[in-house]
Amino acid sequence: MKGLITICSECGSQTELREISIEFERKGVRAVMSGIPAMVCPRCGEEYVPGEIASTVVDTVSRTIDGTADMLKHTHALRQELVPVGQAAPSLRECLELAVA
Ligand SMILES: [Zn+2]
Repeated sequence: MKGLITICSECGSQTELREISIEFERKGVRAVMSGIPAMVCPRCGEEYVPGEIASTVVDTVSRTIDGTADMLKHTHALRQELVPVGQAAPSLRECLELAVA
């Protein structure tokens, strides 16, 4: 593959092709993508995701997070209808508000 990092720029070791997980957090939504192919340094753990894969992953995650944030806003409104004010424990209401903040 073009542009693949085979030598770690941190410690100079030979990198290995592995599948990694990347965690993203935006708009109060956390998304984890796993199974992403990357060159990983077995010595220091540095991860090199090829540019083309990285941009595809970022695009996909951005769309997913935007969609999830919109969905949470919508379901938050529905939850307020479902749970009359005063009946839910304060801590639960705080949790719901935090989840869509
Ligand atoms: Zn290294």
